Amino acid sequence: MEHRKVGILGGGQLGRMVQEAASRLNISLTILDEPADSPAKQVNAFQSHLQGSFKDPVKIRELAQQVDVITVEIEHVDTAVLKELEASGKSIHPTPATITLIQDKYLQKQHLAKYQIPLADSLDCPNQEAIEKAGQEFGYPFMLKAKTMAYDGKGNYVVKSQDDLKDARSKLAPGVPLYAERWAKFDRELAVMVVRSVTGEVRSYPVVETVHKNSICHLVFAPAQVGRGLTGTSDETFSTSILERARKVAENAITSLSGAGVFGVEMFLMQDGQIVLNEIAPRPHNSGHYTIEACHTSQYENHLRAILGLPLGSTAMKVQASGMLNILGAGDKTYEACELAYGIPGTTTHLYGKKECKAGRKMGHITVVGDSMQEVHDRLLPMVMAMDPKDE
Ligand code: ATP
Ligand code: MG
Ligand code: MG
Repeated sequence: MEHRKVGILGGGQLGRMVQEAASRLNISLTILDEPADSPAKQVNAFQSHLQGSFKDPVKIRELAQQVDVITVEIEHVDTAVLKELEASGKSIHPTPATITLIQDKYLQKQHLAKYQIPLADSLDCPNQEAIEKAGQEFGYPFMLKAKTMAYDGKGNYVVKSQDDLKDARSKLAPGVPLYAERWAKFDRELAVMVVRSVTGEVRSYPVVETVHKNSICHLVFAPAQVGRGLTGTSDETFSTSILERARKVAENAITSLSGAGVFGVEMFLMQDGQIVLNEIAPRPHNSGHYTIEACHTSQYENHLRAILGLPLGSTAMKVQASGMLNILGAGDKTYEACELAYGIPGTTTHLYGKKECKAGRKMGHITVVGDSMQEVHDRLLPMVMAMDPKDE
């Protein structure tokens, strides 16, 4: 079976899992990234990949010459050259316009506000006076955020009180543009992966719950267990309405953007039951790793199907419940959960082949499936404890 050739900007773990899906479908994937042995390149070393930055226009043009469709596994790419390539007829998904919008969290929010997507209030902070004004307007704490180049919470600073105002700017990368966000009093965090094909068809995966630790995704539970503990009762109607609203917010947000592929939509479930969108990722997402083992078609395979115009696969779960634990760099303890996983049924370990194990770096993940969420919890617990005994 012949497919059009795909080129991808970025060769990290998300690219690696796209590559795994591509390999099964005989889809040719050429990867552009600096290291010759990046996580994604390792799993298809026979293919000749490109060595260089996904921000280098020369390298991106070189990739464009070799493939029919270009996609991304990271949003921090050079979009000026992508726009130029698109204008010359190259197929790029999602569109460079969408990637540009998402690269700047503040622009992303201004765009979403136009489509009545519920958001935390935000305020542009081009100078110190504006940061102080945010304190007056939002109260404390509030979140000061880098507009661009943010990941794993690295562009965020919590301004806890007036005393923090003076040094707030210096806590974030020099020169990066900033904006402030009202503190979201959330009960929990939710996420939905939405896939849209070049044909316009949109499907979403089940709403999941994400648990962050130090602003880095730590655990994911699918499907989200809302309605339990929120009101003190297990109210089916209440939980169905929350999940339905979360799905709708995610789909509305994605249909406001152009281009095909999968998108990760991060949301807050507020203490008053409202859904507030946090941010969108224009690519496969950490909160969708579980789809490999738990859904009929993974986010990675559906991303390829979507950008190539192949029929989309079912986004439904094929198991009752699933959980995912990120393996984050933690010195000697990094792989302790992986050792335990060998002895726990329903687990699948994914390691990313990263050579350098820095603290907090995403080194792998473990997906757990089970016949109930209780079973998933029971299976996950020893692994979570091995990583951090305080987390029981
Ligand atoms: P990612 O790795 O998902 O791209 P990021 O660096 O872009 O992360 P955000 O998603 O903006 O960062 O924030 C990281 C986490 O910080 C969120 O998942 C949430 O837990 C917390 N957070 C972000 N914004 C707010 C807010 N306005 N109020 C309260 N908590 C927030
Ligand atoms: Mg982000
Ligand atoms: Mg985020």
